[in-house]
Amino acid sequence: MRSIQMVDLQSQYQKIKPEVDEAIQSVIDSARFIKGPEVNEFAENLAKYTGSNFIIPCANGTDALQIAMMALDLKPGDEVITATFTYAATAEVIALMGLTPVLVEVNPNTFCIDPDAFEKAITPKTKAVVPVHLFGQCADMERILPVAEKHGLYVIEDLAQAIGSVYTFNNGTKKQAGTMGHIGTTSFFPSKNLGCYGDGGALFAQDPLIAEKIKMIANHGQKVQYYHDIIGVNSRLDTLQAAILNIKLKYLDQYCKARQDVADYYDKALAGHPNFKIPSRDLKSTHVFHQYTLQLCGLDRNALKTHLAKLGIPSMVYYPLPLHYQKAFESDRFPKGSFPISESLCETVLSLPISTEMDKEQLSFIVEALLKYAAENSLEKSI
Ligand SMILES: *Cc1c(COP(=O)(O)O)cnc(C)c1O
Repeated sequence: MRSIQMVDLQSQYQKIKPEVDEAIQSVIDSARFIKGPEVNEFAENLAKYTGSNFIIPCANGTDALQIAMMALDLKPGDEVITATFTYAATAEVIALMGLTPVLVEVNPNTFCIDPDAFEKAITPKTKAVVPVHLFGQCADMERILPVAEKHGLYVIEDLAQAIGSVYTFNNGTKKQAGTMGHIGTTSFFPSKNLGCYGDGGALFAQDPLIAEKIKMIANHGQKVQYYHDIIGVNSRLDTLQAAILNIKLKYLDQYCKARQDVADYYDKALAGHPNFKIPSRDLKSTHVFHQYTLQLCGLDRNALKTHLAKLGIPSMVYYPLPLHYQKAFESDRFPKGSFPISESLCETVLSLPISTEMDKEQLSFIVEALLKYAAENSLEKSI
């Protein structure tokens, strides 16, 4: 059996090696490492793929979030609402900008921001909400968007884990992750569903004025070279990364399908099991399974993790702490116990290996190991 990894980027590369190598070589030959034609080409290709009016590439997903907040003119003291159960980058940028991160609870089934909790957290200072499409599934945009509109809030979608996910509204309209709010931000970190071979990111915008502003901010605040109209940053996608992404984008549908097949396999094997709660599927959103995340009941997570590791099966805890438990984001506003769902998720979630290159032999080995472990080690009746 091939060794099992959380994300198997080597095997993925082997399948597209000639194309990728050629693209890389061609950038090196051209020596246009910064702002080469591949960057715009990729922006156009991704716009076509996602249906976004504008795509502005940048250096990474965290920069994308920062540029988004700069472009929307958020000012120190403004409050920005996001979920406490997410990757830290989202709240980090809010705090870095001098804005106030207002953390809220998530839905226990989808792991995404709870729309009621979002609405309750709105104050006169609230200026924006950042729904994170966590683990590959869109947040409840059907409910988030009207609440944001009613209160005049900007919506910044963090789609770093959900590129390609499609959301269907009640009226039948279908939109891709990143194209529903004012701005979408994503990352091309190697292990993301569309990953490059280093750091990369992009912003999605639908409004031409916002897109223009984003473009300027990512480029030192200049529209015309050496004329700096606003304070910006230096955040570019390397030409090499854009060339690689142009190739990988062609395979994104196939990659999503491969991940969904892995998820289906796990689902079938574990559905209804008293010790493993399989991830819920929101009927409105396709799930691109950036992570396949179980909730454990009546099992010692650390012991299971150690046991799996001994068998050569990696597993990860995304995330061990909710943001309001992180030292960096501690606040009297959110004492421990404020968000019981997120707090409990952090204690019970376990993400299994999922990648585009997993085979049935690896999957059945993982499932057998889980089932056997549960049969022998269940702490008590399931909760
Ligand atoms: C990966 C990730 C980011 C940050 O992306 P980088 O490219 O690593 O800066 C932000 N938000 C979420 C939800 C992520 O998963």
